[in-house]
Amino acid sequence: MHRASEPSFRESVDLMFARAVKLMDLPPGMEEKIRVCNSTYTVRFGVKLRGAIHTFTGYRAVHSEHMEPVKGGIRYATSVNQDEVEALAALMTYKCALVDAPYGGSKGGLCIDPRQWDEDEMERITRRFAYELIKRDLIDPAQNVPAPDMGTGEREMAWMADQYQRMHTTDINGRACVTGKPVNAGGIQGRTEATGRGIQYALQEFFRNPGDVKAAGLSGTLDDKAVILQGLGNVGYHAALFLSTEDGARIVCVIERDGAVSNPDGLDIDALRAHIVETGGVKGFAGGAYTEDGSAQLEADCDILVPAALEGVIHMGNAANVKAPLIIEAANGPVTAGADEILRDKGCVIIPDMYANAGGVTVSYFEWVKNLSHIRFGRMQRRQEETRHQLIVDELERISSDASINWTLSDGFKDKYLRGAGELELVRSGLDDTMRGAYNDMAEVWRTRDDVPDLRTAAYLVSIGKVAASYKAKGL
Ligand code: NAD
Repeated sequence: MHRASEPSFRESVDLMFARAVKLMDLPPGMEEKIRVCNSTYTVRFGVKLRGAIHTFTGYRAVHSEHMEPVKGGIRYATSVNQDEVEALAALMTYKCALVDAPYGGSKGGLCIDPRQWDEDEMERITRRFAYELIKRDLIDPAQNVPAPDMGTGEREMAWMADQYQRMHTTDINGRACVTGKPVNAGGIQGRTEATGRGIQYALQEFFRNPGDVKAAGLSGTLDDKAVILQGLGNVGYHAALFLSTEDGARIVCVIERDGAVSNPDGLDIDALRAHIVETGGVKGFAGGAYTEDGSAQLEADCDILVPAALEGVIHMGNAANVKAPLIIEAANGPVTAGADEILRDKGCVIIPDMYANAGGVTVSYFEWVKNLSHIRFGRMQRRQEETRHQLIVDELERISSDASINWTLSDGFKDKYLRGAGELELVRSGLDDTMRGAYNDMAEVWRTRDDVPDLRTAAYLVSIGKVAASYKAKGL
């Protein structure tokens, strides 16, 4: 029996949480303590632009402080509202717990359409918003560390970090006040690609587990799988690029604001992205067939559906028509709680947002650690590692020079083996390890407990368990 009306994003998160805690044995009152959002700050501020004062509304919600600092992105969109920010903050708590990033959950947002303002105006608005948050410690390396989200990127993070440092000139850890900064302003290699890269690693790990693949009615590997993706932004672009160029998947359709483009042989993702940057949409792209009704394509045939734009796009109105046997939630909350039930009954496997898009916060964690340690990863070890590898290569070459041994090193081995890992390789390695580990923590609960019907419930069980343990240890 499916529910009668569509739950909101916030209700969806609460419903999914409630479904999981029913299967847990939490101490009295713990469920409520974990579920509620601790605080939400709303700010209205004015900026004088184009000869008039414009008033903007922004939010920063702190869901859980079982660990500090709290962490979560700042979103710029006209649809931002308190309920959405609080739902996203709750997801951050569960996400950080699942991937063992030592943070509580937070999220922020500003009601703005960034495309309506030029760069100088965006800088003034962002700095003013940051000022309001900084003076209340809602941006602070030890208390609350934002990151990019929809509508924001490294540009906004650089302005916010600079604003913090202007207001705290003697804070030696000032750069750690936000993550997702440009590399030349205290960022880390691999942060921009991190969430999309995490989607790739999540799918790779899924396909390493044949039983899980079979549960979705699929077989084989990622090679030649047909993928439909919604939202070719930061997350969607990197996910689509890596899946198509490194894993052999075919991105058969990309859905954007102005419609969708399809090509059964696979779209050229870099060319499509360049077209979007140039024209503002997918219409007119020469490498695929255009249709105006983008959301109808969510229902088209494919192996994997990747919603990577915004929440609530798969709802009770279209879930029954979705044909994808596997959905990976690159966006936060793209499947409503009502749609989730319909899809589960159809046998569709959903890799949930809280796990799937955790690559961003994982690499943000690495960036924060880098900022606090004031040294780039790999700087101390790289050459030493190369020197030790050189010893082995020299020894192998000495042995193989013996004419009686018919044996040589294979082509390329020496170059690859001798190269010590730089920051990007280390970041990718740490991210891959995190995504593999968290997948198996979550999937193990799904595989072994008959009362756990899907990966999402399993993910909630793992993360709520960790948050509860943390509160218990504090003696609450
Ligand atoms: P982004 O702004 O870079 O990209 C969003 C893309 O979606 C844009 O290309 C936009 O044109 C498109 N889009 C917007 N509305 C659409 C619609 N109605 N139909 C089709 N396409 C539409 O944002 P992003 O950073 O890639 O974030 C996307 C999602 O991923 C969000 O849900 C965000 O919360 C989540 N997320 C982002 C990160 C990160 O590191 N950036 C981390 C975790 C989760």
